Amino acid sequence: MPASPAKGRTEKPELLLRLLGVTKRYPQPDAYDILVLEDITLDIWSGQFVALLGPSGSGKSTLLRIVTGLAQPSYGTVLYRGRPVAGPNPHAAMVFQTFALYPWLTVQQNVEIGLLAKGVPAAQRRAKARELISLIGLDGYEDALPKELSGGMRQRVGFARALAVDPELLCMDEPFSALDFLTAENLRSELLDLWIERRIPTRAILMVTHGIEEAVFMADRIIILSKNPARVIADLAIPLPYPRNRKAPEFLHWVDQVYQIVTGVEEPAQPTVEELIQPGPAGAKLAPIPAGHPPMLAGLLELVVDRGGRDDLYRLGAELLLEVDDLLPVTDAAELLGLALVEQGDLIVTPLGQRFVAASPAERRAIIRERLLDIPLFRLIHRVLHSKANHRMGRDFFLDVLEGHFSPAEAERQLDVAINWGRWADLFHYDPDSEQLYLAEDQTGPA
Ligand code: ADP
Ligand code: MG
Repeated sequence: MPASPAKGRTEKPELLLRLLGVTKRYPQPDAYDILVLEDITLDIWSGQFVALLGPSGSGKSTLLRIVTGLAQPSYGTVLYRGRPVAGPNPHAAMVFQTFALYPWLTVQQNVEIGLLAKGVPAAQRRAKARELISLIGLDGYEDALPKELSGGMRQRVGFARALAVDPELLCMDEPFSALDFLTAENLRSELLDLWIERRIPTRAILMVTHGIEEAVFMADRIIILSKNPARVIADLAIPLPYPRNRKAPEFLHWVDQVYQIVTGVEEPAQPTVEELIQPGPAGAKLAPIPAGHPPMLAGLLELVVDRGGRDDLYRLGAELLLEVDDLLPVTDAAELLGLALVEQGDLIVTPLGQRFVAASPAERRAIIRERLLDIPLFRLIHRVLHSKANHRMGRDFFLDVLEGHFSPAEAERQLDVAINWGRWADLFHYDPDSEQLYLAEDQTGPA
């Protein structure tokens, strides 16, 4: 039962945070609102180290901002110890991915910031900050400026600053993802030691991450979010004792379990071209095209075919040194194009994928071209270019259509992904100077 508090802690578990139907929409001028979070309901108890796992752009930071009271939900309720959170949550502190230190303040002053905001007297502030600076291994750096510190040391300051206010709930937004591998690994272990040995008064930790291994290494509970919009798709208790061994079979078992859930999420059905051009409030929502690059897709399929047409995704990612965030767009693209399937954490090359791997470069392009025309956005681009006498259309036109479905930044990204694939497959050309998509003479035959 995932919501139950962690074992091994003798204190009586208390309900700290309760989210009830939390939904977040970002309004868009002249377009649909973007629905980022949908109906998130969960409880966090004292004693828990919770990892909130989801793909980039799924809304993890948004959810953390809501928990810490820095943002409000559009609907739903956030309760802390039974009281609605209105404004910054005084029981929560945040560690940011980008450290977010004040560059003109010393380490000591940066750590004191939260205490200053709480009106703690100067002498007490100084003593508390010193204690935390020492705890986090930065003795002797009190007077240094952030620019004099390495990334790892800056993030230590980030931790010290958050911990200085003795938060009951420590929130962390991908706190290790901007650090190099070894530095991240050291900080993870040190933070875990502080937590497990109860050298900090923190009662619960909520850590946002997109790293599956990181989540399984650190957390005793993993909440998995989907994307577009974010919903809770799994809530798992991780019953492994600490310290955890990344090579142990039980560890790998849990990594594999989480991998299966993350890679098994269905994309929503795609709308037709007609629904695309005439978006009504009833809302045909365009599913995003994954950003996997064609050469990477070809390479991955070749590798898996070499191994008999099926291989474990987690192992493939590890061998290719790809994070799940880098690998998933490629496997998503493979699935969208019908070249491979993801099943129980394995990538399985389909017969079409086998044909693709055996084909010449020109034949490969032809296969992808045909598959792209099954995807609404490509069908739309193709149809529009065909219907124009000069077979040209500016990118702004397509951006307009996409902005009915995505945020402006995401619309740009989607169009760039589409142009990348369309050019690779010879479906259409793009002229970056005039910012026009166009068909060359050999592309203007019947669709
Ligand atoms: P994550 O942390 O999981 O990467 P975020 O919470 O940062 O995701 O963002 C989720 C989605 O919400 C993204 O598509 C992002 O573009 C959008 N978004 C975030 N903040 C805003 C905002 N202030 N206005 C409009 N859209 C936003
Ligand atoms: Mg984020």
